[in-house]
Amino acid sequence: MDFEDSPEEASYRGHVKAWLAEHAPRHEVPEDRALTENDFMEFARTWQASKAAAGFVGIMWPTTVGGQGGTPIQHIIFHQEEEQYRLPTVPFQVGVGMCLPTLFTHGAAEVAQRYVPPAVRGEEIWCQLFSEPAAGSDLAAVRTRAIRDGEAWVVNGQKIWTSYAHAADFGIVLVRTDPSVPKHKGLTMFYLDMRSPGIEVRPIKTLLGDAEFNEVFFTDVRIPDSQRLGEIGEGWKVSLTTLMFERLAVGGRPAQSPDLRSLLQLSRSLSGGDAIRDSSVAETLARFYVADEGMALTRLRSTTAVSRGQVPGPEASIGKLVMAKTLQDMCGYALEMLEDGGLSDAEDSPARMFKFWYLWSAGLRIAGGTDEVLRNVIAERVLGLPAEDRPDRNTPFNQLKA
Ligand SMILES: Cc1cc2nc3c(=O)[nH]c(=O)nc-3n(C[C@H](O)[C@H](O)[C@H](O)COP(=O)(O)OP(=O)(O)OC[C@H]3O[C@@H](n4cnc5c(N)ncnc54)[C@H](O)[C@@H]3O)c2cc1C
Repeated sequence: MDFEDSPEEASYRGHVKAWLAEHAPRHEVPEDRALTENDFMEFARTWQASKAAAGFVGIMWPTTVGGQGGTPIQHIIFHQEEEQYRLPTVPFQVGVGMCLPTLFTHGAAEVAQRYVPPAVRGEEIWCQLFSEPAAGSDLAAVRTRAIRDGEAWVVNGQKIWTSYAHAADFGIVLVRTDPSVPKHKGLTMFYLDMRSPGIEVRPIKTLLGDAEFNEVFFTDVRIPDSQRLGEIGEGWKVSLTTLMFERLAVGGRPAQSPDLRSLLQLSRSLSGGDAIRDSSVAETLARFYVADEGMALTRLRSTTAVSRGQVPGPEASIGKLVMAKTLQDMCGYALEMLEDGGLSDAEDSPARMFKFWYLWSAGLRIAGGTDEVLRNVIAERVLGLPAEDRPDRNTPFNQLKA
């Protein structure tokens, strides 16, 4: 494992750091006031446009599709440095991070030419319509049905948990085109205009009171066959491209979330500064420190693999699993330490931040693979333990019992 950047990586990091130091601070999300959703989106679009103009979007994509032709390690370096600021990156994570690579990998050159540049500049938003009420961890179980009608497909069904569908202009959607074959074989991927007749987007309000994700209903939605990504029945393979890019898009600690320094600061401020001297507090903080260091080193292992031209392996799942749980545990512990158990809603109370991230990290433990599913991946693909029994793998989808 390499702890140091190579000379080229160090030079690229220096260039990124200098650019961010000059541009990022004025795009940071203000800490002292809540933004309306429209204001937040405006902040996000402006930051995206500024990054795009400087060549920091699509860093590792081919130049032929509007990327920078850089290396995966440059992509990682930029994101490591960007994370140091409180920047509004979330609305573009799924679209730019996952949908666009799927679009240009499996779509025609003209499709990439039309759709990549405006999305890169933050002018058009994309969403990923994969999960359904009965297909999340078991994504290949999607039931949304597409039936061929001449040069188009007619789609009926329901998607759920679709981040930013309410703001999205376009989406990629995984549908079942052939229920008579086993579940992984009868799927097809399309891209579509989110304003197509027959699409209804219903926001879902979360514990935090916001509505970042949605239910999306399809009633006789017509998608031209020319908007198919990949071959008919090859949707599972196409979705693996999206999920591979998800590994790069999800995994790091979210910008703005509290870390061990925030917890140390809190414990130094409580009980007249004595909380930190309590041995049980010190022991708990030490446990979080060990988890943090383990994550940093595991991340370095993945980064080293990427730096040597290898693909990040399933061990990248370890980072996301530990990060999301540690974040939630840290915030929960901070709330326990506060005298009122974190009930205060006062503007200047540290409880506000820890409460927000305690609730938010619950979603992080689900998105991009739940804790249990990641443990399965680690058990089977990292540790080589026997695989889970998957009796439905070879049965035609329409013969499976619900
Ligand atoms: C913040 C957030 C944003 C999201 N954004 C999107 C999006 O933009 N587009 C999209 O398509 N989806 C999105 N999702 C959905 C996400 O991909 C799914 O929630 C996730 O895959 C889990 O699926 P599920 O919710 O159906 O839970 P289920 O798969 O039904 O799981 C329920 C429980 O069973 C456990 N479980 C399931 N299978 C196994 C197994 N084999 N072994 C052990 N335990 C198991 C799970 O761990 C979980 O605890 C988002 C989710 C969140 C939280």
